[in-house]
This record gives sequence, structure tokens and C-alpha cells, in this order.
Amino acid sequence: MRIAVVSDIHSNLEALEAVLADLQGRRPDCVICLGDFVGYGPDPNACIDVLAPRLRAAVVGNHDVAAIGARSIDNFNLLAQEAIIWTQRTLVNGARTYLTALPQRADLEGLLIVHASPRQPVDEYILEVREARAAFAADPFRIAVVGHTHQPAVFVELNHRVSAQGLLPEVALRLEENRRYIINVGSVGQPRDGDPRAAYAIIDTTELVATLYRVSYPIEETQRKMEAAGLPGPLIERLAFGR
Ligand code: ZN
Repeated sequence: MRIAVVSDIHSNLEALEAVLADLQGRRPDCVICLGDFVGYGPDPNACIDVLAPRLRAAVVGNHDVAAIGARSIDNFNLLAQEAIIWTQRTLVNGARTYLTALPQRADLEGLLIVHASPRQPVDEYILEVREARAAFAADPFRIAVVGHTHQPAVFVELNHRVSAQGLLPEVALRLEENRRYIINVGSVGQPRDGDPRAAYAIIDTTELVATLYRVSYPIEETQRKMEAAGLPGPLIERLAFGR
């Protein structure tokens, strides 16, 4: 099965629509979302309206949990807090109900689906081999897909050794039978790896291949909407740099 994996939309409708148009052309069998539908961006309700009906599976992200008021926002930086408070005020009931019902983890075709990490599904950042090693040890999954860091990456475990590998756009990564993988698909709506284009991946669970894709979108349009919504300036500017 060819599964398109999107993550960290963050209320960026222009990025989401560009990704959905791009993946349409690649004809995946289904689409799944790794959470953080909302937070940071100007279109939380529209992103849920557009994406939710297309999803075979989805899990909740830390910004989603905060946006529905299910946890304190103290752990977020001040800019993120400001955006979460704006999102809390803006979310309509249907969108809030949708986010409230999302699970923390899901499984599809042998993929473990979480927002952040198999060890702590909603919150843990896997940026380095050390954190990946702990995640491999905490759960017997073979292939996990994650987001949360907004940086595409792959961690591989072979004979209890863990290494990091790059995940370059449109370079097929073969998933070897005797290895375990944590695949970070990057972010649709707020990339932080220096490439401002939206990111998503397609994972072929039959052929055992993972491929990352990057898609340009009209960033200035999203920035204009953020300005009109009164969202914090640094969150508006960072979209242009992918940081
Ligand atoms: Zn996020």
C-alpha cells in the first residue's frame, strides 16, 4: 500500500492545498496525518475541513492538544503561546470536536503512527541518535512515522546500533527487511530545515520504499493572512526562510 504521510500542517491552508494537489498526481492509496493540524498559522478551521475527510488515519499533536484547552500552554515559547491563544479563540465547535477525538497513536499496514516519538507519542523531540535509540528501545515497532521537529530525517536500527540518515527529496529510501526505522516526514505548514517548501512523504509498505517530496506554495499569501489575523511577526517571517 502506498501511504501519503503529512504532518505539522499548523493552520497553513496554502501549503496544505499545494501538498494535496501534488500528492493527488502521485496517486497514493491513502493519506494519513501525524498531527499538529493547528497552531502558528491563520486557517485552523479550513485546514481541518479540507484535510480530515481525506484521511485514513490521524493522531493528535502537542499544538492540537493545547488548542482544545486540554493542557496548559506553559511549556510552549511565548510566540507559540500567543498563536495557541488565538487558535483557541478561532476554532469552531466542529473542529474542536475533531481534534478532541484524535488518538495519540495508530497503526496502519505495519506502520506505527505518532506525532512525536514512539516513546512519548505527543511530546518528545527525536533530533539525535541518542533520542532515537531510546525510542527504538521503548517500543517493538518496525517502522514508525513521526513529525514534530519539522525536520525530515531517518533513524535506522540494525543489530541494536542506531544511526541517522538523510532523507532527500525524491530520492527513494529502500527499507531493508532486517532493519527498524523512524521516519520523520517534515512539516507541511512550517518547515524548519532551511527549505521553506512544504514537505510530505509517500511510504510504500509493499515495495518497502520511502520517498520525501517538497512542494512550493504561495508563502506571501499565508503571511498576508497571518498579518491580518494579528499573529506574531517572527512566526510570519520564519515561513520565508524555512526556519
Ligand atoms: Zn508542529
